[in-house]
Amino acid sequence: MTHDPLAQHPDWTDSGFSTRAIHAGQDPDPRTGAVVTPIHQVSTYKQDGVGGLRGGYEYSRSGNPTRDALQEALAAVEGGAAAFAFSSGLAAEDALLRSVLRPGDHVVVPDDAYGGTYRLIARVLGPWGIDHTPVDLSDPDAVLAAIQPGRTKVVWVETPTNPLLGIADIAAIATHAQSAGAVLVVDNTFASPYLQQPLALGADAVVHSTTKYIGGHSDVVGGAVVVADGAQLPAGMVGPTGTTALRDAVGFLQNASGAVAGPFDAWLTLRGLKTLAVRMDRHNSNAEAVARFLVEHPGVREVLWPGLPEHPGHEVAARQMRGFGGMVAFRTGSAESAVAVCAATRVFTLAESLGGVESLVEHPGRMTHGSVAGTALEVPDDLVRLSVGIEDVEDLLTDLAQALAVAGLGR
Ligand SMILES: *Cc1c(COP(=O)(O)O)cnc(C)c1O
Repeated sequence: MTHDPLAQHPDWTDSGFSTRAIHAGQDPDPRTGAVVTPIHQVSTYKQDGVGGLRGGYEYSRSGNPTRDALQEALAAVEGGAAAFAFSSGLAAEDALLRSVLRPGDHVVVPDDAYGGTYRLIARVLGPWGIDHTPVDLSDPDAVLAAIQPGRTKVVWVETPTNPLLGIADIAAIATHAQSAGAVLVVDNTFASPYLQQPLALGADAVVHSTTKYIGGHSDVVGGAVVVADGAQLPAGMVGPTGTTALRDAVGFLQNASGAVAGPFDAWLTLRGLKTLAVRMDRHNSNAEAVARFLVEHPGVREVLWPGLPEHPGHEVAARQMRGFGGMVAFRTGSAESAVAVCAATRVFTLAESLGGVESLVEHPGRMTHGSVAGTALEVPDDLVRLSVGIEDVEDLLTDLAQALAVAGLGR
């Protein structure tokens, strides 16, 4: 496909974050002037004579204007050269990993990675000959020690981590990955591009579950890979299109393996992206109030939120993030009381996932992280994870106070 969606568009690279989120890739429709990108719910496109493509479109797995708009906007907000939208975050991760890895290669993974990421690397890619080492990413020296020069082709970073809110120093790890010729990938789902710009800190690629903050309304599942300008495949590797460019390899696999975002999903995600900055500002301030409330609460053992000065990653987070995000975790001292808190909230809905406008609560040990029980990624069983939404903060604090009391942890 030779279509270049950037060619006829204005360039938003000098604009601010929200201007890019609202306008990049989203010019008014040339035929009608519609100010919102249409949902091009179509599989195929009329050709003006054999090979006479209009705008480069021939078949919607290979290219779709609604998906292109989303991809262009995502590249613009992450400061990347290209973005690729997928049907889920895990589909995006899978395409990126298979673009870069070959049997016999090795991956460094966070020891508290998103459970599905770990399952993909260990249980899907493992049988295809990919080896991995879980490592505590808050310690750049441990990352360096885990890298096997010549064999490690991917260093996978998640920061903040899920569900323990650990912080990794992206710039420090980038130096180690670079000198080993490995590709540095950052899962930027928890921070969102508004709070953290990993490509500017030296990452080669960012992945997102756009299901979370970018979509923002708990109404669509999706994922994306954003590739840095000039990012290369691991040292010595040539991709399926004959180049060493990472973007060519990921773009090839998006089409060749086909887990693309559908037009309506792309449209919903694009609609969510427009309000990302204002939502994140409220997620940040509400999470700060919730974290401070929990720190003061006598029934809570420990609060994990990178904005707290006592958080071990606070200084690094303050350096590489614009705000500390909407995810807060805390420990209650026992699995029973943690489960009881999750059952007792009324404003916080008991559900997996995160990043939507509504507040959610969950018990990672028995819900999102059930799949990693018994591995290096097992999480404490007294942990409660909150996705703090954008409701009125007083209602959130009142709800947590009553839920802690019902769980026998009240004042
Ligand atoms: C949800 C999530 C994923 C997986 O994304 P899906 O859209 O559910 O496939 C990956 N990483 C993180 C940090 C997540 O929260």
